[in-house]
Amino acid sequence: MDQKKYKKAYSQRVRKANPYLIWAQYTIYHHNQKGHSCCFTPEELVKKITPNCEICGTVLIWTHKKTGHTSPTLDRMDNGKILTLDNVQILCRRCNVTKHDRTQDEFEDYCRMVVQRAATRDQTGRA
Ligand SMILES: [Zn+2]
Repeated sequence: MDQKKYKKAYSQRVRKANPYLIWAQYTIYHHNQKGHSCCFTPEELVKKITPNCEICGTVLIWTHKKTGHTSPTLDRMDNGKILTLDNVQILCRRCNVTKHDRTQDEFEDYCRMVVQRAATRDQTGRA
């Protein structure tokens, strides 16, 4: 096996064996690259991991591969540049993309607006 293939195989084995830690390292690196400042270690972030998305409850898929809308993502709850364990939450990709740059309160207001509009549409047959 050449060195490049060996490195790739090794990397896949490590990621498979430590999916939470690898995710935490990657997401901290990614946020730092985007100009945020993470005030926690990957090990501290791992302790915050839950099996489900904190908004919708979807079971998060912790594999070394990207799994689409069930992939775990780190959400900045207040969109500040300084990330602490108290202002981040772990969401499925779908919730995080939908929430976008809204605060938690803004996102919940948006969800209520969608539900209210859907209820109106159900009664009249149109929005
Ligand atoms: Zn979700």
